[in-house]
Amino acid sequence: MKIKAQVSMALNLDKCIGCHTCSITCKNAWTKRRGAEYMYFNNVETRPGVGYPKHWEDQNKWKGGWVLNNGKLELATGSKTTRLAKLFYHPQQPELKDYFEPWTYDYETLIHSKRKNHQPVARPRSLVTNERMEVTWGPNWDDDLAGGDSARSDENFKKMEEEITMDFHDIFMKYLPRLCNHCLNPACVGACPSGAIYKRDEDGVVLVSQDICRGWRHCIPSCPYKKVFYNWETNKAEKCIFCYPRVENGLPTICSETCVGRIRYMGVLFYDMDKVDEVTHTENPQDIYGKMLDVLLDPNDPAVVEEAKKQGIPDQWIAAAQDSPVYRLVKEWQIALPLHAEYRTVPMVWYIPPMSPILRRMEAQTEFPDTLSMRIPIAYMAQLLSAGNEDVIRRILRKLLDVRGYMRLRETKKSTAQYDTIYGENTLYDMFRLLSIAKYRDRFNIPTGNNVSREDKEVLQGADGFPGCEGGCFQ
Ligand code: SF4
Ligand code: SF4
Ligand code: SF4
Repeated sequence: MKIKAQVSMALNLDKCIGCHTCSITCKNAWTKRRGAEYMYFNNVETRPGVGYPKHWEDQNKWKGGWVLNNGKLELATGSKTTRLAKLFYHPQQPELKDYFEPWTYDYETLIHSKRKNHQPVARPRSLVTNERMEVTWGPNWDDDLAGGDSARSDENFKKMEEEITMDFHDIFMKYLPRLCNHCLNPACVGACPSGAIYKRDEDGVVLVSQDICRGWRHCIPSCPYKKVFYNWETNKAEKCIFCYPRVENGLPTICSETCVGRIRYMGVLFYDMDKVDEVTHTENPQDIYGKMLDVLLDPNDPAVVEEAKKQGIPDQWIAAAQDSPVYRLVKEWQIALPLHAEYRTVPMVWYIPPMSPILRRMEAQTEFPDTLSMRIPIAYMAQLLSAGNEDVIRRILRKLLDVRGYMRLRETKKSTAQYDTIYGENTLYDMFRLLSIAKYRDRFNIPTGNNVSREDKEVLQGADGFPGCEGGCFQ
């Protein structure tokens, strides 16, 4: 057993209000630079929709992630030899038109124009070419437009047997905040010919060394989530850094800290590195989620604690893993799922499926609805979060409904025995507290002291941080 620690995140989609605060605070901290204007390390998509970049889930087009080829795991972009042969030509690159062309407005003309006899208008100008441009697409262009044209082209519909009509009465909508998943089997790392992308040993954060990156861009199509970006000014790859300067100091990432809906949780997970291969080689994609749970170790198991100590994991990391909100959501209660586990990258950002309004009037107002009467189709959520396995989604939604049923009885001073016999005393109350009213310290438990030296950090991103960050982004 080789025990590794992973700083991980869980997002409760039930509470996301689509405010984009996370995207904007991340942008202001990390990508407000020349060459990085179009990058959103964190973005929030309205679903159904095509996402950012457009159709990122269409792996026939982009060849992202890993595939099993006669039991052998290889990148969907091809074997090492194929990729080397295509070192200078790999056409599965998303282009600016797939993301959007970033723009600003011509404020100078607006403010200083001498001609005052018309209503002044600030015209858009490209931040890449500085030419005047028409704005026809943006990172959240289809925001809140469920049922619009792009919603109908959602990739997940193609794999569903159930037909989604998008008629007025059937329309549904949810938000999907996305960032790099800091995967256990990152395709971006596997694809990089220079060895510039790596997964940190002490906390599992996946980073790109700005000094080593040579701009081959193999990582970009290989990441099935399209969370590696190419900086057109520096010719280097960039990606979400899991706000590691904050995480090293025991602070949550910026997107988590500023999340208005308080949907995000961060904590440590322990996993058995020797078993990750078993997960990635699982034949049936619908079994991958179950195998991922098997890889996660119980930090309260004395044998795991003893072994972790022997392998040099610091005491404060063991204590943090034992009190990790993410561990409770993912493993103990099993209500959080990986996004598109079928890509076989073993993502370490987890999502709690959202509840949704009930479609039909309840016969008896005292009854709680069942999961099938919810507006968001189970089959759709299953495509996103459980490789099409609808039973997993149904089971989680049932649990979330039971939390509500339990609280209704508890608040009206009635017996909760019917739930206690299934879940045990107080389990549903603990779930209610963490999901609904958890305080800052309950939502984030990140240990410090992972012994990363200043020199290591400088190797990581160059002494001044990302090029173009005056004085360094880490000041
Ligand atoms: S999600 Fe992040 S870690 Fe996973 S493959 Fe993409 S860039 Fe790499
Ligand atoms: S973890 Fe940090 S870098 Fe990554 S998306 Fe969130 S704010 Fe941005
Ligand atoms: S800040 Fe939180 S609530 Fe707002 S869009 Fe981002 S994840 Fe959702």
